[in-house]
Amino acid sequence: MSSSNLPASHPPIAIIGAGLGGLSAAIHLRVRGHEVTVFEKEDAPGGRASRIVRDGFTFDVGPSLLNYPWVFEALFAAAGKRLSDYVELLPVDPSVAYQWPGGERLELTSQYDQLRANLEALEPGAGLGLARFFRDAHAKYTLSFDKLVTRNADNPLAWLGGLSFREMLRTSVWRSLYGELGRFFRNPRIREAFGAYGMYLGGSPFDLPGIFSILAYGELAYGLWLPKGGVYGLVEGMANLAKELGVHIRCNTPMQAIQVKDGAVRGLKLANGETEDWRLVVSNVDAPTTNTQLVDDKAFREAAQRKVDRIAMTPSVYTFYWGIQRPVEGIGHHTIFLPDDYRGAFTDLFKNGRLPAGLPFYTSVASATDPGLAPPNGTSVFVLAPAPLLNSENGHADAVDPGSIRERVLTRLNHHGVDLSEADIHTETVYTPTEWRDRFGLYRGSAFGEAHTLFQMGPWRSPNYARGIEGLYYVGAGVPPGTGMPMVVLSGQMTAERIASHAR
Ligand SMILES: Cc1cc2nc3c(=O)[nH]c(=O)nc-3n(C[C@H](O)[C@H](O)[C@H](O)COP(=O)(O)OP(=O)(O)OC[C@H]3O[C@@H](n4cnc5c(N)ncnc54)[C@H](O)[C@@H]3O)c2cc1C
Repeated sequence: MSSSNLPASHPPIAIIGAGLGGLSAAIHLRVRGHEVTVFEKEDAPGGRASRIVRDGFTFDVGPSLLNYPWVFEALFAAAGKRLSDYVELLPVDPSVAYQWPGGERLELTSQYDQLRANLEALEPGAGLGLARFFRDAHAKYTLSFDKLVTRNADNPLAWLGGLSFREMLRTSVWRSLYGELGRFFRNPRIREAFGAYGMYLGGSPFDLPGIFSILAYGELAYGLWLPKGGVYGLVEGMANLAKELGVHIRCNTPMQAIQVKDGAVRGLKLANGETEDWRLVVSNVDAPTTNTQLVDDKAFREAAQRKVDRIAMTPSVYTFYWGIQRPVEGIGHHTIFLPDDYRGAFTDLFKNGRLPAGLPFYTSVASATDPGLAPPNGTSVFVLAPAPLLNSENGHADAVDPGSIRERVLTRLNHHGVDLSEADIHTETVYTPTEWRDRFGLYRGSAFGEAHTLFQMGPWRSPNYARGIEGLYYVGAGVPPGTGMPMVVLSGQMTAERIASHAR
């Protein structure tokens, strides 16, 4: 460990993992005066947000939809910098198109009048519902970010106690997301589109709390963006800022164990066998993986395993990265293909633990917004199909042949007039649930971490510090506030605040 002349109140900190959460924590902790070293097992930062460059095509590995740009602006501002000096954000508008097998289509946009017209085409009169939805979701959104999302609260009473009765009613946590959307829209397709993100939150919109209507609202109100160079442009910007601030990022340095003695962190054991003395460690490795595999304390690991088995997790995914050497007509940047049996797809995924019969999937053609992501005239296509967790009772997602998913995706694309065949795929990379687990250390291949059911939010979510091990903290998708790029960036700030509050 490098020596430090920093005051004892700002002891040096090791962060395991240079995902977006790890980088955010590194920046916030460094700004607060800590000396920070980040250990990353791969040869570059990014984690789930890393990238694949192949045959002239560039693909973002995981996240492709960037919303809430103010979160990233706030991160850079915390270090006295401007996001725009590091990352160029390109607007993506129209944002996301939804397609159903019968030919219905809904295109979302941040242009309010156009959005109203698009909704009215599905439900005459929906414009009035949209105006009411915007007012209600705006109030929910403000309330959530001002009072709930970014607060480190261990106690539900303290967490909710700051809300007035009126604000409490506003949260709609006792109503399902689908039911909440039904207050504003009658048309099932509009409700299905606005509720579809439930897939990535780890629950069906028929079960998730109504407060998540803020997701659709946040995207419509603040727009959808693509960093120039792909989402990885954001990773590079954050890594550059961290390095400028003096954070040491040590890539190709997998960690084998967090050493613990007498209930406190004592050091780190690297995969090459070396050990280093550390008293404060922040793990950006998926929290269940950290607790069940990295912590060098058998009793802690066993207790963690019992707990993890009871936690609801988000699904796994099959992802495909296709380089196509020609323009592909009929598909925009973001498209979500939903099945007729919407409810059945969620039931299959989350309750029956099997690949849904009418496979929902998502495609991203980032080169439509940033042509630099493909060779001239080429198209980079990303496909994501949700899958049950590895070792699900009926799932065996790892046993599904990716070729059969590719075929189903291509058939559905053709059904909607997108002229694409297997022969067009010049270069292909596929990540199965097993690869997501092994490459990124994701517990049972869960792509987005702990689910966002009501009792896995705020003070009920796994906390960002270890109960029973002094000096061990967590950052990233598995801890508050939750999954997704803006949330894990906020999680870095919350972990830094947690460490400061424990030092007081
Ligand atoms: C397929 C997919 C699509 C997604 N789409 C979106 C989207 O469109 N929009 C959005 O906002 N979010 C999306 N997300 C979610 C978002 O990507 C994640 O919430 C976020 O990137 C997680 O960041 P993190 O810092 O928590 O973890 P990670 O990115 O998992 O970072 C953990 C880091 O730890 C490193 N590590 C692991 N084990 C070790 C070890 N033993 N030693 C050292 N280092 C180690 C890993 O290599 C990695 O760099 C998507 C996720 C996936 C998987």
